[in-house]
Amino acid sequence: MTLSFILRLATCLLTILLVPVSCKKNEEKKRLAAESQIKPSDFLSAEKYQTLMVDFVYDAGHPPSADAVANLKKFLNARLNKPGGVQMIVKEITASGKDRLSITEVQHIESKTRSYFSQGSILGVFIYYANSEFAGNSGGNNVPALKYGNTSLVLFGKTISTYPIALGKPTFAIIETAIVEHEFCHLLGLVDGGTPMLVAHKDAGNKEHCSNVNCLMHHMIETTEFIANLVGSNVPELDSNCLADLKNNGGK
Ligand SMILES: [Zn+2]
Ligand SMILES: [Zn+2]
Repeated sequence: MTLSFILRLATCLLTILLVPVSCKKNEEKKRLAAESQIKPSDFLSAEKYQTLMVDFVYDAGHPPSADAVANLKKFLNARLNKPGGVQMIVKEITASGKDRLSITEVQHIESKTRSYFSQGSILGVFIYYANSEFAGNSGGNNVPALKYGNTSLVLFGKTISTYPIALGKPTFAIIETAIVEHEFCHLLGLVDGGTPMLVAHKDAGNKEHCSNVNCLMHHMIETTEFIANLVGSNVPELDSNCLADLKNNGGK
């Protein structure tokens, strides 16, 4: 064997080994880029997509409460025109083992674990319940959840688990429900975040939130202090202005 033959052989082997990896990466990138074209009205109306597939993944050993998953499904069925139904697929994944996660790290986990993308009549959405906190937390402001893509949400379980649970206060399932429903409503374009407002009701100081303190879309839902205003087992509901906006953009 000559040196050039060995070199050619090595190049060939390298190509065979690397091409499938780079193809797979390109495919993932393409699929995630396609998700960035999804609009709030695609969730709300049945015009483009008739079925919603919710890909709900969680770090091993830290599942969302069954009640929160069931409540979210009920909430989505009540608001979205999806004649093909809303499917919830709850799946355990290997935990990252990281106390804090950046959005880039969350996106990397999504690219490895997301099973359902939007195609044909099916709209896919990815929810990652991470046993971590947001690496971008600062000044005591701990973010419990984020919409980081047009069909992607992350819930930070390490932060949610610090919410105070006491007698007469909501249960953990109620807190999780409020947070995941609130965050999902950002995907639905509330408030003035892709779903137009029929009447002005956005909170001037808090982007894409409702000015009504009793509404699910009030910004306080994303802070630990909101627990102080909640009693018992009621998840805050959308007020009439938020409901009217969703209906006007194709929802129920
Ligand atoms: Zn919010
Ligand atoms: Zn509202």
